[in-house]
Amino acid sequence: MFLASDSKYLSDNQWYMPYNELLSAFNWEIIGYSSEERPILTTTLGSGPRSMCLWAGMHGNETTGVYMLLALIDLYTRKKIDLSEFSLHIIPVINPDAYVRYTRRNGLSIDLNRDFRAFQTIESAKLIGWIKMKSPELSFNLHDQRSIFHVNELPAYTSFLVPSSEETRTVTPMRRGVMNRLGNALASLEVSLDGIGRYSDEYYPTAVGDYLMGQGIPNVLFESGVSLGDFERMKARLFGLNSIVAILKASNTPSAVYDELPQNTKGLLEWVFTGVLYARMRVDIAVKRVYYVNGHAQGMYYVVDELGDLAARPRMQETLGEAMALSAPLIIGQPITAEFGTIAFENGILVS
Ligand SMILES: [Zn+2]
Repeated sequence: MFLASDSKYLSDNQWYMPYNELLSAFNWEIIGYSSEERPILTTTLGSGPRSMCLWAGMHGNETTGVYMLLALIDLYTRKKIDLSEFSLHIIPVINPDAYVRYTRRNGLSIDLNRDFRAFQTIESAKLIGWIKMKSPELSFNLHDQRSIFHVNELPAYTSFLVPSSEETRTVTPMRRGVMNRLGNALASLEVSLDGIGRYSDEYYPTAVGDYLMGQGIPNVLFESGVSLGDFERMKARLFGLNSIVAILKASNTPSAVYDELPQNTKGLLEWVFTGVLYARMRVDIAVKRVYYVNGHAQGMYYVVDELGDLAARPRMQETLGEAMALSAPLIIGQPITAEFGTIAFENGILVS
């Protein structure tokens, strides 16, 4: 297994690399242009007979998979990884217009992952053409999940899905084979699977993974997430890379490991102040961080996430607020300005 120190792309705490920097990071080929004419980059590692496709950055504000792929290329070019059996076809960012804006949707406000039936965007059409041309044995669809997803009381730092190919979610032999292969890979990592979840297999006819399964192209979805104290998703980055390598090498002999992963659920709060006196009420107040990129500037601020009786919701961090009072009204989704006892936020910035 790789260690965080084996590649700067696994260890440095950056969570966003400007697209210009990414362009010059390796000797990429260009396979086309986005709707705003940004180059869509690709490379192939190895020249073995077993074809694999891996892509990230379908949603521009989901960057963990981008770093996983950069680390994979970096380790391969430094001969730290043997891929002689394989040809790994990689697109690090399939949606560069969203990536430069750090948004989910492309430059024309279309969510690519809802366009894999109509194929109206340049980017979705390009991706599908590329995959079909490579006819991969398996493909890897790398995304990030929101921090509300959890398994048991822990943040889900990685969730996997072997998608359905139709409404009834039949486990076809092909789908079973990918589930087995993923299960064998996870077992081979010999690590605790606490915090690893299984994503809902509800059928989304316009999502890329579901579409590919329907076309007989096996694929697995990675959803990288936060872990406690790790909002840059460094743990998911390393685990994801190790999982990719393990999946490449795993067989599809029967395994129940994937089936036994707990399904991830929504509802995890980030930081809750309990029982705060607010407008003559006693309420729980949850805040969460929001990351942003604006040109060369990038950063994070806190917004008001939820107010009210939050006792039933799991949380990553809790501060007893009984001795605290707030005078100014709070607005959901807005940067928070408030003093909770000794903890003060000003326009979303934690100042003390
Ligand atoms: Zn996504």
